[in-house]
Amino acid sequence: MIVVDRVAELRDRCDAARRSGQTVGLVPTMGYLHEGHRSLIRAARADRDLVVTTIFVNPLQFAPDEDLAGYPRDLSADTAAAEAEGVDVLFAPSVPEMYPEPTLTTVHAAGLTEGLCGATRPTHFDGVTTVVAKLFSIVGPCTAYFGRKDFQQLVVVRRMAADLNLPVEVVGCPLVREPDGIAMSSRNAYLSPEDRERATGIFAALRRAADAVAFGERDPGRVRDLVEEEGARHGIDFEYVEARRAADLAPLDTLDGDVVVAVAATVGDARLIDNVTMQIAGAEVFTDLGVITVAEQESNR
Ligand code: AMP
Repeated sequence: MIVVDRVAELRDRCDAARRSGQTVGLVPTMGYLHEGHRSLIRAARADRDLVVTTIFVNPLQFAPDEDLAGYPRDLSADTAAAEAEGVDVLFAPSVPEMYPEPTLTTVHAAGLTEGLCGATRPTHFDGVTTVVAKLFSIVGPCTAYFGRKDFQQLVVVRRMAADLNLPVEVVGCPLVREPDGIAMSSRNAYLSPEDRERATGIFAALRRAADAVAFGERDPGRVRDLVEEEGARHGIDFEYVEARRAADLAPLDTLDGDVVVAVAATVGDARLIDNVTMQIAGAEVFTDLGVITVAEQESNR
């Protein structure tokens, strides 16, 4: 594995790989790598010849009152993890390397970035789309792997790439959870043992949503109420609970087809996001918490 901290060198290596007929897979991250990140790297490793992983805590996507300074970092552990997963090029630039001048040009995906996390983080997604557009420009034609953990981010990045005709295929990968159901996140490092226990309530609340839909609930407002109720039982006060169409985050009157129930909650010092995706086809409901059918539920009673 080669560790690169210069934009020009990363560009040259990706260009050279393509010239010799290789495909390129890109996994952008902010580091402090865990199994969620590693699953994206494994997907890239399985599909593509040259695997590039980037580690950059992007100041542009943090508001002044957010956790930029304290964001967990461990480049030597990340280097070992990337190497163990078979990454070819680890790109870990400095802030001045990525932003040599104050940024005058940003990328804004209208609409998609206004609700959910965008409601309380109004500048966040512009920071994400701007840095991801820069990475796509530097790396060039490739397949880029993003986690469904950050569901709104995935939808926004996919739309940005399409709108701007960027030569990048955006692939969404499954959300990876801890054994107790908590979504893996670098920010879980902020949780005290008590908060960590409380945070399992987020998963319990999403399970409640999945179970309700499996039993035939199709009213998004009712599903939101159930999630909030289950969260409250665990001491979780959700910042938002939204049941939306998965493809474009459009609000729904009735839950049908591909749906995401997305939530955010602050637990102790950590703002956590999580979601469950569901494919609803008649009475049958598939979720990424496992396949649930009404028949199965009833036979388990
Ligand atoms: P981050 O370092 O938090 O910016 O995340 C980098 C990439 O890893 C994003 O595409 C995330 O969606 C993805 N990711 C983070 N946590 C998980 C997880 N628990 N499961 C799957 N993907 C994840």
